[in-house]
Amino acid sequence: MVARVGLRLISQNASFVKEKNFDEQIEQIKSIDEHNLKDWAKFKNDILSIQGNVNQKNIDAVILKYTTSLKKYDIALSFAQHLKSKEEELSLGTINSLLNLYYEISKKEKLTKDQIKFILDAHKSLYSKYKVLEYSTCERLLHALCAVNETEKALKVLSDIHLTTTPSHSAYSTLVATFFNLNKKKKALELIDESIKNKRPLLENAYGAWIDYVLRKYKDKNTIHKYLDEIYSFVAKNCAVIPLNTANKLKEVYDTLNWNAGLARIKKVDGQCSCCMDKLDCLTLTNDEFDKLQRIVKEKLIVGSDLFLKTSPEELKSFTDFVDKTAPYDIVLDGLNIAYGVGMASHTHKMKFLNQVVDHFVRQNKKILLLGRQHMMRWNMKMMQQIMQKTKCFFTENVSQDDPYFITAAILSGPHTDIVSKDLLRGHKFLLRDESLIQIFKRWQWQHQWMIFQNPQKRPSIQAPLKFTPCAQKKNNTWHLPYEQEASPVIAHVNDGIPDLYIATPTAFILRQLSVPTWITISKTGGNRTGKFTYVIMPTASRKIDPKDKQRGSRQNLNSSSDQNVKVVRMDIEESRSKMTPRIRRNMERVEMLARPNSRRLRSLWDEKCAILPRDRRDKIKSALEEDYFLSPEQTEQYFQAFYESSKRWSGPGGMVSRKEHADRSKELRQRQKWLVNFSAQVAYRLCDYIAKGQKEMLVSNRLRSIADVVLERVAEILGEPKPTRTNPGRLPRFMVAISDRIAVWIENAVYRADAAETESSKGPDEHMRLDAEKPLIC
Ligand SMILES: [Zn+2]
Repeated sequence: MVARVGLRLISQNASFVKEKNFDEQIEQIKSIDEHNLKDWAKFKNDILSIQGNVNQKNIDAVILKYTTSLKKYDIALSFAQHLKSKEEELSLGTINSLLNLYYEISKKEKLTKDQIKFILDAHKSLYSKYKVLEYSTCERLLHALCAVNETEKALKVLSDIHLTTTPSHSAYSTLVATFFNLNKKKKALELIDESIKNKRPLLENAYGAWIDYVLRKYKDKNTIHKYLDEIYSFVAKNCAVIPLNTANKLKEVYDTLNWNAGLARIKKVDGQCSCCMDKLDCLTLTNDEFDKLQRIVKEKLIVGSDLFLKTSPEELKSFTDFVDKTAPYDIVLDGLNIAYGVGMASHTHKMKFLNQVVDHFVRQNKKILLLGRQHMMRWNMKMMQQIMQKTKCFFTENVSQDDPYFITAAILSGPHTDIVSKDLLRGHKFLLRDESLIQIFKRWQWQHQWMIFQNPQKRPSIQAPLKFTPCAQKKNNTWHLPYEQEASPVIAHVNDGIPDLYIATPTAFILRQLSVPTWITISKTGGNRTGKFTYVIMPTASRKIDPKDKQRGSRQNLNSSSDQNVKVVRMDIEESRSKMTPRIRRNMERVEMLARPNSRRLRSLWDEKCAILPRDRRDKIKSALEEDYFLSPEQTEQYFQAFYESSKRWSGPGGMVSRKEHADRSKELRQRQKWLVNFSAQVAYRLCDYIAKGQKEMLVSNRLRSIADVVLERVAEILGEPKPTRTNPGRLPRFMVAISDRIAVWIENAVYRADAAETESSKGPDEHMRLDAEKPLIC
């Protein structure tokens, strides 16, 4: 195994040397400046004479891309002029790059007639040439159309993006800003609504245009204030965090109105503002809001039961009976999650830690519900029994997800029940469809979640729920708005265990940056009958996902869904890992990764053996697959039900296949082979085309990403390279990732089209077969 690892490392190095030329081409393109540039034709020939991935087909797009991204607009425009003078047909990549260039220029100055004409012509010709435009072309086109105020056309492009994915934050915000610039407030607000529904919070250009609109339209100070108030109400309603530049812009606006403006700090302990000394409110849920939350949880339990809790109906029944009998509780503990708060440690240590947390709440005379997994019983029976005497306990099967259990128990228990977990409960998918419910859930979580960390003495440090709601609030004519602080190295490096939830609040930021005054307060006195207006804009750390958190999460899931035996081995490796040298550790990690069965093997195991495997084995494979494919529980369920159905058709439980069935099967196999040949030819053709364009994909859905991962694995196998991580900076790894992503998009499109075609004629049971009838794909 070690030899294999070694060999792969060498081959990777070899390819690294080989790809160096690619950099040389790019470096030359990047280093162009007006002084050394005389002849574009010669420049292009020089670049092409160097061996590398920039070729005759993609060179125009690459030159435009780099000159634009480096803001060398004069050079980019000179090149655009050169392209125009040649009067040759432009590639799609070049058109995209030009659209992007003109959009960037429009931010600084008015576009020329020629530039406007190019955008409009491009819009016309693209739609006449292609029936459906792919995502990145749509995005570029939309931005460029906004630059020339063609909002109707841009709206149409926006709806086209929806066919395959959700438009970007920038697409929404740019279009919103354009509507405001054109004084079409109603349209802008409608689009803002849609943008929020699609989880695309506004960017600074949208806020900026909104503010400018108010300032342009109204001259009286009080009226201006009244309409700016609408913006803050919007921020408050959506629990939004405004961008830093927007905060600065507001400060400037209030400065010109002779109102004081400034940044402020909010104390984490009690929500006190350093500017007005007032305390932020805790926006507790109203009875109605809590009832709504509880009703949804109950509904989900009945309607989508096993999808939601990922459990058996029997387990669900015993769980709800248990809660009925023992509720209400003061506090619900997520046992496994708390135990893992100690990181990689022995089971005894984990149990001890959990026991200490339990004791903390026992001392407060709390009625405790502890949720755990059955395998925890095997950790340390004696200590477990001690814990069980102090609490009500419910242990779910090892394959069940305890996140939803834990939230369900607390919400069913009543409005006064708290929860304890070190995580941020992102798994609450059951609520995520309704924006207003998400806000209610967030507030419930802020008010009720205790967090657990391990202090340097290896004892639990227990953090009470926030005493205030970290959202924009208006109180005594004062607005406190959270704003997004620019990411700084300080934030990136300090990890004091405060999770994302609190990182996203102003308070965590105070803890870290006590000495740095980064708060803004804006207030105005006199000339106003309503008295003093104070605008306090409080910073928050930017919402970064801590990679460590992610890792922790996935490792934990992996452990919890795998065999007990496997887990013990894994823990030992983890424990001794700290003593290893980095080199050995890397090798060990690699060996461990190689030892893991890959998702394809697991899948083929499922395909072949699903019908004969006992239920618990099946569930295990399913869980492992879910982990590899990042599917949601609902998607997994549908996926596996489909598989299960088809595997039942393929062969009965005894494996007996009749003659007719046999003939059918060979026919299907032949068709499948035919499909495969066609499909491969198409992929090869599109691959060449794609390489020529050199664009980057956006993998928007988990499903797409998991398909891309499977493809990447295959590509790596074919090339004889190790499967690269997505963040690997090497040329070849990046190329492999890009190609896999693109192929994934094609596959997704193919399935999408096949699904659409299915409604017209649904004949064969085989997913693959339907693709046969398809016309060539438009990618
Ligand atoms: Zn204040």
